[in-house]
Amino acid sequence: MIQVLHISAECYPAAKTGGLGDVVGSLPKYLTSSNVLSAAIIPKYATKWNVNAEWITVFKGSVWVDWHEHYFEVHQHAGNTLGYPLFTVHLPGLFDRPGIYNDPSGAPYPDEIRRSVAFQQAVLEWLLSFPWHDRPRVLHCHDHHTGLIPWMVKYCPKYQHLAPIPTVFTIHNGQYQGAFGWSNARYLPPYEPGTGTILDWNGHINPMAGAIKTAWAVTTVSNSYLYELHQSSLGLESLFRQEWQKEWGIINGIDAAVWDPATDPMIQQRLESNDVAAIKTFKEANKAILCEWFGLPKDWPLISFIGRMVGEKGSDLLPEVYKRFLNAGARVSFLVLGTGETWTQNEFRSMVHAYGGRFNAVIDYNEALSHQIYAGSDFLIMPSRVEPCGLNQLYSMRYGTIPIVRSIGGLKDTVPDIAEADGTGRGIRFDKFNVEDAVYAIYRASSMWHNDPDTVDLVRKKIMDIDFSWENAVAQYLNVYKSIGSSVAPEVVNLTPVPEEPATPAPAAEPTETPKTKKASRTKKK
Ligand code: ADP
Repeated sequence: MIQVLHISAECYPAAKTGGLGDVVGSLPKYLTSSNVLSAAIIPKYATKWNVNAEWITVFKGSVWVDWHEHYFEVHQHAGNTLGYPLFTVHLPGLFDRPGIYNDPSGAPYPDEIRRSVAFQQAVLEWLLSFPWHDRPRVLHCHDHHTGLIPWMVKYCPKYQHLAPIPTVFTIHNGQYQGAFGWSNARYLPPYEPGTGTILDWNGHINPMAGAIKTAWAVTTVSNSYLYELHQSSLGLESLFRQEWQKEWGIINGIDAAVWDPATDPMIQQRLESNDVAAIKTFKEANKAILCEWFGLPKDWPLISFIGRMVGEKGSDLLPEVYKRFLNAGARVSFLVLGTGETWTQNEFRSMVHAYGGRFNAVIDYNEALSHQIYAGSDFLIMPSRVEPCGLNQLYSMRYGTIPIVRSIGGLKDTVPDIAEADGTGRGIRFDKFNVEDAVYAIYRASSMWHNDPDTVDLVRKKIMDIDFSWENAVAQYLNVYKSIGSSVAPEVVNLTPVPEEPATPAPAAEPTETPKTKKASRTKKK
């Protein structure tokens, strides 16, 4: 029986644009390996991975959104090879597109409200088809795309049979709240009179605010970020303060099986052992390959940036910061991987021409290249304005790349400065979001690399030995589930492959309006 159902817009490897995908792709796996069977459900996008995977249809139904009936199917990933059951909701016409949120030109899909409401209702329709004793013991919703669910199960008569299931809402990014105007209220399913206003925040329907008010527990991905949300969260500050008693900060783990320098198939040279000499060989070989690919010098420190080029990540600060070094002829080189705002992309593109041989940029989303950059760089810079947890610094440390970070959110919680007297340092930190502070941090990194290679070796060894695995976070999530009265408990998990022809889902214990529940069938899309 699925004890915890994670409901999300992303889940790696089926769909990922950032950390949300990584977390939802690994947390269920580690909960399951702790004997708490957890599954994930996301919309079925036409991503390459989804199209090539084999799926079993386990449920068919329909939902009404703004006077349109949308038929859907719930597909289960065949074989259970991910370490947890992954389900996708196939909503023809709404999600079978190549992009997750945006079309190939980068523009957001215009029917976001319909898509989001249809997906959330479809998940609940599917859950209603479970016999009551077989329903998950926690509905764990991630980010605003699933933020209406805690409200729907409480206040929409159609879903009231699910109301006893505790809901947890995790904020991976408080910058995006999914707000839309009341003129679009027709997209919501029918609700009890007067309860629509619960979704209101500053005159808009705000799914994130609705979830903070109605979920049984609210978590975010670091303690510092939780504190920051109370100070500044695009208008939700007072709400965060009001609900403080049910809020938790839990730092993310990383999937140590995917991010393992000893076995990672996406890097050119794997780590042979954990001693300083082997680490040196690992770093030098991977750096040599990167430098060859991008025409950069091997004998200068290589400082990389990976990420979405958006305001939160502070990538717009980097062109000016880098130019200070490049114009001064400093012995340091830079590599950038990312996509995002046009201004930043264009700046980086023109810098490739102006500073070739010392600077390079790949304006793309490229998972394999990101692994090689984590493995082959000396430093990874994260000048973020906002950073709820940040995974890049965790991956970079795992691959022996020293992080240079702004002291904010999860970066503050995971990267103490190497100058700390207590010897806990893991990287280089700077406080203020300005060119001077970032330049000084890079200057410190570059000087250490040129003048103190032994310290570089020691820091690398230290950060590669840190255990960033999910075990710690899993224990904290289990605490949260229990604190809200969920009966989650370790039990024997039998992750057998999905059968060829699974039985038709059992009828719901209570009558539902779910129109069609047909026999499951196997589909393979190639
Ligand atoms: P966020 O979710 O805010 O984007 P995180 O640090 O939590 O930031 O997670 C970012 C994830 O996305 C990391 O796995 C990072 O390697 C990956 N990533 C971001 N941009 C790219 C890119 N252009 N190519 C490959 N991976 C990327």
